[in-house]
Amino acid sequence: MVDVMSVEKRSALMSRVGAKNTAPEIAVRQRLWQSGFRYRLHDSKLPGKPDLILPKWHAVIFVHGCFWHQHEGCPYFRLPATRTEFWVEKLRRNKQRDDEVTTSLLEKGWRVAVVWECAIRANAESAGDLLMKWLRRGSTPIEVWGDKAKTCHSSPIRAST
Ligand SMILES: [Zn+2]
Repeated sequence: MVDVMSVEKRSALMSRVGAKNTAPEIAVRQRLWQSGFRYRLHDSKLPGKPDLILPKWHAVIFVHGCFWHQHEGCPYFRLPATRTEFWVEKLRRNKQRDDEVTTSLLEKGWRVAVVWECAIRANAESAGDLLMKWLRRGSTPIEVWGDKAKTCHSSPIRAST
């Protein structure tokens, strides 16, 4: 298991992961852009306001903070020790909303990928490479995540029903 985070570290993390244009998000964007992939940002006309929209590839990419989007089994996700009930309910709703957004986008014919904060923190280049591989050839929705060995992985997004 991971070390318990200090209060300061957690609050810093929690304030950061909710924000747009974070350093990890920018790192992945740059990787895609340098490789010739063109995108729009934060399109509010689409369900869930995806972080990156690649119309040419019929694809959207979400950059998910591991805490806010409740990345289960991830070292960056840990329920706060205080107001736990509140957080359980809040994060449950976030997750439910994510599922609904994914379903809605798929129904509209978009391809959907999620890149988790932990992937970008582990290895932003590798996370970007997995996304590009998926953009070119992927047929199912994927999520990209990272482990403590600084390695990124991709796997199908789990069905939520
Ligand atoms: Zn994670």
